[in-house]
Amino acid sequence: MTKNVKISYGLSAQGFSFADKKILFVSDKNIWDNCAKFFPADFLKKNHKNLILENPKADEKNLKKITAALKNCDFILALGSGTINDLCKYTSAQKNIPYAIIASAASMNGYLSKNASITISGHKKTLPATLPTAVFCDLRILKAAPIRLTKAGIGDSLCFYSCWFDWYLSHKILGTKFDKKPFEMLQKKMDFFVKNFAKFSLRDEEFLKILIEILLLSGQGMTRAGGSYPASQSEHLIAHAIEMKYPELAEKNLHGAQIAVTTLTAARLQESLLTSSALSNLGQEILKQVQDDGVGDEIFLRRHPELVSGSLATLQKFFGKKIAQQCQTEYDQKLELIKKSKTPNWIELKKHLKKIHLNDASLREIFAHFKIKTSAKSLGLSNEEYQACVAYAKFIRNRFTCLDFSNIFDVIESSKHSKGITFKSYEEIRKFFAN
Ligand SMILES: [Zn+2]
Repeated sequence: MTKNVKISYGLSAQGFSFADKKILFVSDKNIWDNCAKFFPADFLKKNHKNLILENPKADEKNLKKITAALKNCDFILALGSGTINDLCKYTSAQKNIPYAIIASAASMNGYLSKNASITISGHKKTLPATLPTAVFCDLRILKAAPIRLTKAGIGDSLCFYSCWFDWYLSHKILGTKFDKKPFEMLQKKMDFFVKNFAKFSLRDEEFLKILIEILLLSGQGMTRAGGSYPASQSEHLIAHAIEMKYPELAEKNLHGAQIAVTTLTAARLQESLLTSSALSNLGQEILKQVQDDGVGDEIFLRRHPELVSGSLATLQKFFGKKIAQQCQTEYDQKLELIKKSKTPNWIELKKHLKKIHLNDASLREIFAHFKIKTSAKSLGLSNEEYQACVAYAKFIRNRFTCLDFSNIFDVIESSKHSKGITFKSYEEIRKFFAN
């Protein structure tokens, strides 16, 4: 862990001092109401200014409020998790004023990542931000956080294996860059967690310490990789597709709660790649057809309708015009890479991926132990709606993942591996959304 991270029980009781800094303290009313008792009684008085936001969102309106409050201050001290952290680290970058964060929940991996997720004109954007000068993790505060936030943190941690799988797959098939260091930094802790989860409960201090360390290292890994690659692959693409298709639903669901559901789908798809001949046979076929520009083959076209030019119409029907246009740009970039790709050694590749993969059954056991919901319904979606988001997820970014093989699993998923969520053919999905 980096030097600027402090993790201990009761850390906030003494308050925090930053030499002669004029501190703007930023928090969320619900969070402050829940945590005030853990700080010294005169904590707010000692700050130069306090800004307690009511039900804030990470958007322009709240950025303006923080910027206005910053007048005559030269340091931001934040208490919060996802939203407050994003707002403060982005403002810090914009105004060139340092910030430190007191984590209010072990709910997400953004404390040590250099990006902020901000909604600008109604669109969620990933924007460059700064790293905090310090992260304070008071286990007493993490323990008092609403339980659903800790569950979300577990969800966002367990995509570790599927991200590793996907990023490596892309590297071997498309020749995209890959850095194993972010995974090596975390592997020991993740493996320990996967092996020992049954010993822990959600309010366990020892467990919260492990979880927050995992989340911090995950953010650090993204910063090292210069992008979200080690912590956001197929499972995050599905979640983003849900957010793009059903923005009002996505606002209600915690990010990590979505990732718990989508990580299971990713794990099943990856398992299919490993256990069927798909990766060597059909996978090869997909690559070859696109490489040869052989999209004139009628049978192939029927099986891979998304490769037909004009698939924009399909995307438009699903996401609407504006998002469909963005999707096509992203997907075209990926197709260019697929065309140039070289044939990997499939046997070697499978062997390596098998070592990385954490299967659906193991993940389910962990989620069940912590009572984390894993159905599409828990996200407010019917199975059909969820399946459609899975099917369209590969179009939304130029990232190459196991989802790029998803259409060859129509049969496999709907027969032996299916556990409530099945993949449908594009034809069925199209019909569904046409109605
Ligand atoms: Zn995430």
